[in-house]
Amino acid sequence: MSLMSLTAVELGKKIRAGEVSVTEAVKEALAQAEAKESSVHAYVSLNPDYALERAEQVQKQIADGTLTGPLAGVPVAIKDNMCTKGIKTTCSSRILENFVPPYSAQAVENLERAGAVIIGKTNMDEFAMGSTTETSAFGVTRNPWNLEHVPGGSSGGSCAAVAAEEVSFSLGSDTGGSIRQPSSFCGVTGIKPTYGTVSRYGLIAYGSSLDQIGPVAKDVTDCAAVLEAIASYDPKDSTSVKRDSYDFTGALQDDVKGLRIGIPRDYFGEGLNPEVKEAVLHVARVLEEKGAVAEEFDLSLVQYAIPAYYVIASAEASSNLARFDGVKYGYRTAEYTDLHNMYKKTRSEGFGPEVKRRIMLGSFVLSSGYYDAYYLKALRTKALIKQAFDRAFERFDMILAPAAPTTAPKLGESLSDPIQMYLGDIYTISVNLAGLPGITVPCGTDHSGLPIGAQLIGNCFEEKKILRAAYAFEQSKEYIRCPLSAADFSKQGGEEE
Ligand code: GLN
Repeated sequence: MSLMSLTAVELGKKIRAGEVSVTEAVKEALAQAEAKESSVHAYVSLNPDYALERAEQVQKQIADGTLTGPLAGVPVAIKDNMCTKGIKTTCSSRILENFVPPYSAQAVENLERAGAVIIGKTNMDEFAMGSTTETSAFGVTRNPWNLEHVPGGSSGGSCAAVAAEEVSFSLGSDTGGSIRQPSSFCGVTGIKPTYGTVSRYGLIAYGSSLDQIGPVAKDVTDCAAVLEAIASYDPKDSTSVKRDSYDFTGALQDDVKGLRIGIPRDYFGEGLNPEVKEAVLHVARVLEEKGAVAEEFDLSLVQYAIPAYYVIASAEASSNLARFDGVKYGYRTAEYTDLHNMYKKTRSEGFGPEVKRRIMLGSFVLSSGYYDAYYLKALRTKALIKQAFDRAFERFDMILAPAAPTTAPKLGESLSDPIQMYLGDIYTISVNLAGLPGITVPCGTDHSGLPIGAQLIGNCFEEKKILRAAYAFEQSKEYIRCPLSAADFSKQGGEEE
């Protein structure tokens, strides 16, 4: 069995016990990538030299007792929208193709301080805009469960790398579901923390009021351990929150007695694939058997979440992406006549179609005359959605929902109809609009063997409750491993672009 089949916490234990060296672990991650990348393409870049050098440093720090935590020596992959000092960070965009940041994101720094070793940077939808990882400027990522399907997005590379057992765990980011939806499509576990829990410093901004970094891992225990390592109060991020407790692993108890679970009727109606519905509702039954109380209710306003989200996220994106103008960093067009022509050509050549669509939409809704009609209205809708959740959490400890209406679609099926693709975000985006934490746990497979994930949504700052329920559910079943072996990967990889 490969060391990459272990969970991060299991591997960390072996490393601390001296059964496995950090270099061995890192070499195994690199070997797995070598064997599988031609078919999966989870990474934008691998950094073997950096990783092997870091492995030696970390090994020394473990030996001298400086590093004692669960992630010391464990290989990690980082979504390519988080700055990594000295390591190329592209956001899967041509405009940042050669950008090497002079500093690391705070979450990355926290992970490195905990001794995790960065193996590489993972593929994503360009600037995290998308739901399939197909808007990447550097080619698609394939779902390791079935290479003809997408891994989801935008953190598709991070989720595929973990599912394909190329790495122990990874970091993703979630603006409207980008950790939870691809986790569902790839059969891995991912949590989006309460807004403000993980510093956004060094996370290349998409929709700043919605973006959060979070862990993608093989199980709930890993998610809790990683969240504990990356969460911190950071004065460099003005929206960072000082939490009372960062002890997320303390929540891992197989005990849900008395927990009240709300099942929003509006999430289980039309548009939800029946196999996904059945698998998600099965989670409620399992938790009920363990003593939780599940009840249906009407969340309301669900139909307004998508338009509100796409107005707000695009508005913020249009402002955030104004900085990519070819002046200070990133791509600059080769030939131009004057400053305006340079801006125009740089941005025309540097951004892909989905990013341009969002910039245009965002600039439109912020323009005078339309600001009140669209942007302000969307903000009001956001406030109402938050209120609807507040009311729900007066009655319930958490909400059970699907993470996506279907299992992973086939490659090439989604991009032709953006509206249809946006509609797929229906179960995840409200959580970002309301700043809530949400976790996806694998809960079954469909008739073709593709994974299904269930989402547990908590009230603000109540990660512990959803981690506890997710953990309890996980205890009730076997870990469903991605079924493809290395041999299958190379076989199916033969026909790739
Ligand atoms: N699919 C959503 C979008 O395209 C969410 C992406 C994300 O969470 N980064 O905006």
